[in-house]
Amino acid sequence: MERWCVKVSLWNVDLIDKNRFSRPGDKLSYVKGIVWHYTANPGASDTNHQDYFDSLQNQNPYDNEKDLYASAHIFIDKDSATMIIPLDERAYHAGNSFYNSHYIGIELCIEKDGSFHPNTVKQAIAIGAHLCKTYKLNPLVDNIRHFDVTGKICPKPWVDSPALFTAFKNDVKRTMAGEVYEKVNIYDKSGKKIAEGELRDGVTWVPLRVVAESTGATVNYNAVTKTVTIIPKEVK
Ligand SMILES: [Zn+2]
Repeated sequence: MERWCVKVSLWNVDLIDKNRFSRPGDKLSYVKGIVWHYTANPGASDTNHQDYFDSLQNQNPYDNEKDLYASAHIFIDKDSATMIIPLDERAYHAGNSFYNSHYIGIELCIEKDGSFHPNTVKQAIAIGAHLCKTYKLNPLVDNIRHFDVTGKICPKPWVDSPALFTAFKNDVKRTMAGEVYEKVNIYDKSGKKIAEGELRDGVTWVPLRVVAESTGATVNYNAVTKTVTIIPKEVK
């Protein structure tokens, strides 16, 4: 069975404005690892946090109120993830200048009861695997908790239970090795299920012939040259 792949993006991009409080705009010299955080903000979503960190630019550095310098690159909740700062720029997440300059900061949103939704963790595993591959990181060593940098109780669920963080790192490693994948259902326009695909490390693999033929296209496979040709249905 021929398969082709469809790239799905692991996160939406909704960048906050450059500003001194949450997006200084200076570059990471290189990526040494990922610092994992939690938002400590029960029930708030990835987009809520985009709004919040974007609004930090409205602080007045010249009034008597204390200014907050804070941000992270990606926020993940149970149904989506949002990048608010490009991965090659510094974010203020680790409370430590060296780590802010060399580590990507990722925040996991929490449910109303303070826990991580299983789908939030699933997305974190996929994103962690993708980033470890991209930056050639060791998933068991280069994924660290904010707690490991400064001793802050963050991310609380993984400080309360270090075993959960170890399991997370192992899942990232297994995902990188292609050992973990999810079934993906593929439907045609009428809503009929026509095939099953597999989501592996951010790439969805689908049976080519079934999917292409469902759009009315013709699929030819040349076994000698290992070439697939898709001939679209003629539009009249
Ligand atoms: Zn943190």
